Amino acid sequence: MGLKVRPTGRSGESMSDAKIIDGKAIAAELRSRVAEAVSRLKETHGITPGLAVVIVGDDPASHVYVRSKGKHTRGAGKASFEHKLPAETSQAELLDLVAKLNTDSAVHGILVQLPLPGHIDENAVIQAIDPAKDVDGFTTVNAGKLAIGQPGLFPCTPVGCVMLARSALDDLTGAHAVIIGRSNIVGKPVAQLLLQENCTVTLCHSRTRDLPSVARLGDIVVAAVGRPEMVKGDWIKPGACVIDVGINRIESDDGKGRLVGDVDFAGAARVAGSITPVPGGVGPMTIACLLRNTYRAACAIEGVEPEDF
Ligand code: NAD
Repeated sequence: MGLKVRPTGRSGESMSDAKIIDGKAIAAELRSRVAEAVSRLKETHGITPGLAVVIVGDDPASHVYVRSKGKHTRGAGKASFEHKLPAETSQAELLDLVAKLNTDSAVHGILVQLPLPGHIDENAVIQAIDPAKDVDGFTTVNAGKLAIGQPGLFPCTPVGCVMLARSALDDLTGAHAVIIGRSNIVGKPVAQLLLQENCTVTLCHSRTRDLPSVARLGDIVVAAVGRPEMVKGDWIKPGACVIDVGINRIESDDGKGRLVGDVDFAGAARVAGSITPVPGGVGPMTIACLLRNTYRAACAIEGVEPEDF
């Protein structure tokens, strides 16, 4: 995959011996590499990659994500096309828009923000996206390519997880990776990407027996469950690399709530060799990898060899 990212720094916190993997810094570096590559693509070939983001309805969190995607897309020198549709948009209208974007030569990437309102079949909409423009990597064509090891567009958060693991461990060959969570958007693609990195992969889920013992086998542990601080320090093998995908809002003393991951950070950081924080770990990598996917989609569609980063 050509994932080359600088190593991370060491934590200054006395409670923690683990290296804190600085996802914010690694994502910023990746975004600036994309911006440089985009500027060369414009200069040399006159191509401006374009990303279309479609949002249906008023979900406030989704609108925050879409604004952020638009800002970073423009920040990387690309064209950003935002389509904000009302909650009552019919499935036929949405499919019609996707069909138009599929044939729009200014658009190289199409992202339909999930979740969609209940009356729309999410899978029907995702599968309608041209796989060449599927920058989320959710179509069955790209999922299949990932499964059989062919090049394609792969899901952003999982690609970001692998980049973070590589920043901490350098060579993943032979490492035992334990992934907790088997969703199509995180757990399964992380498992396949780590398999391509020559890890020995164990994929765990809600029916796994004695999960703590299985997790303790991991040189790498990826937690993608959606349960606040479920993975405890004594589930972690000393020196392991811990990648926490979870984003959970829990109550806080000031009543505003705070974000925590699926890993008990303080407990795990005492044992792990390296660990991602929440926030500031996997989260920022998702948009950076979306920008990278859009750049790569534009290169593939326009017949230009992409830069390898
Ligand atoms: P999901 O609900 O689709 O899947 C959760 C998985 O966890 C399932 O496969 C389930 O089998 C497993 N699971 C549930 N309870 C379990 C248990 N007790 N023990 C073991 N496994 C259990 O969730 P998802 O979409 O994969 O997301 C997981 C987490 O990652 C969520 O907190 C989500 O907010 C976060 N997320 C973050 C990003 C990001 O950009 N950082 C992106 C996507 C998801």
